[in-house]
Amino acid sequence: MNANLPPIQKVLFDEATIQKRIKELADEITADYEDILAIIVLKGSMFFATDLLKHITVPVEIDTMHLGSYGMKGMKSEAVRLNNDIVSSIEGRNVLILEDIVDTGKTMKYIHELFALRNPASVKLCSLLSKPSKREIEIDIDYLGFEIPDAFVVGYGFDYKEKYRTLRDIVVMEPE
Ligand code: 5GP
Repeated sequence: MNANLPPIQKVLFDEATIQKRIKELADEITADYEDILAIIVLKGSMFFATDLLKHITVPVEIDTMHLGSYGMKGMKSEAVRLNNDIVSSIEGRNVLILEDIVDTGKTMKYIHELFALRNPASVKLCSLLSKPSKREIEIDIDYLGFEIPDAFVVGYGFDYKEKYRTLRDIVVMEPE
């Protein structure tokens, strides 16, 4: 690991545990849908989304959106910014949002409000992780991988300053 980066504290979910849970989620989703428009929320959920979607056996179309934040990091005033919108029309479609983590809930509130204006047939959320102790806005998660405590995680799509995304495990990083 790079000496300039904070050290890894412990493995929270190893590769086998993550992949097993993803297969279970994919089976649940397959049972609930006849067709899906999957929206991958970049960049954090790209590894999760591609692994999950490969196990889904009903027809799937894929689009991506890229969200970021602006304002003071970690402060209540921090707000969501849309860097890149989806290209598809979601009107009349069964939309499944694939998110890496629901933390405060601000990102999901933003997406729900945006999509509500576009008349989809349904919108559901599948999130790999949830940190309920950090929630500021109530969010229904239809398909959830794992609940985690209030810790900063990296790996398997999760970054620290754009590093660590490619780790196969989800690990806890020691704060700076
Ligand atoms: P929100 O607070 O809007 O629910 O989540 C915003 C974003 O914060 C998530 O999509 C994710 O990118 C990032 N985030 C929240 N918790 C963590 C974490 O523990 N590790 C990393 N790498 N990103 C996180």
